[in-house]
Amino acid sequence: MAASKATQLRRIEKEVEGLTESPLYPLRKKEGYHAVVGTGDPDARIMFIGEAPGRQEALRGEPFVGAAGHLLDEMLKSVGLQRDQVYITNIVKDRPPENRDPQKDEIQIYMPFLRRQIKIVQPQVIVTLGRFAMDFILTEFKMLEKGKSITELHGKLLRAVAAYGPITVLPLFHPAVAFYRRDQKEILQSDFRVLKKLAKAA
Ligand code: URA
Repeated sequence: MAASKATQLRRIEKEVEGLTESPLYPLRKKEGYHAVVGTGDPDARIMFIGEAPGRQEALRGEPFVGAAGHLLDEMLKSVGLQRDQVYITNIVKDRPPENRDPQKDEIQIYMPFLRRQIKIVQPQVIVTLGRFAMDFILTEFKMLEKGKSITELHGKLLRAVAAYGPITVLPLFHPAVAFYRRDQKEILQSDFRVLKKLAKAA
């Protein structure tokens, strides 16, 4: 009998926890951080993909529990969703030092785990938070929009074909941008409204 989705996801957690070859592993050990693999409903219809854990996330071992996470919770609530109804993960599963952008080799080493998470959860809707997650998905699903900027694509419902069937991709700005620019928060709020219809079926 095939292992349940929850069991398969736990297996990934264990593998990432033991990923000593990651360039971010020494920092995890030195700071007493945890790997941050994913959280939420293994059967979720909607999957959110962020960039990489920050300090709060690495201390707790859970994605989006710091300031950006509070904003994400607020936005989810605004469309009638709670975090346990969706699945939340990141491209990179360990905290990069000083919150810098993830590097190519870091994205590369965690990519197989994200691929497996998508294959296990089989979300109908993938919401990317920030340009790193957006670029990964546009490339992964060989989408026609590949190479376009997040400024151009945010808030648009894009079509893609996953191995398990057609899906919808919604690129959003990363919630952290709202801390630097007020107008960005309004853009994020309005882009999130696009999710309302899709969330209803969740
Ligand atoms: N930013 C991210 O991209 N992911 C997190 O988990 C937290 C902040």
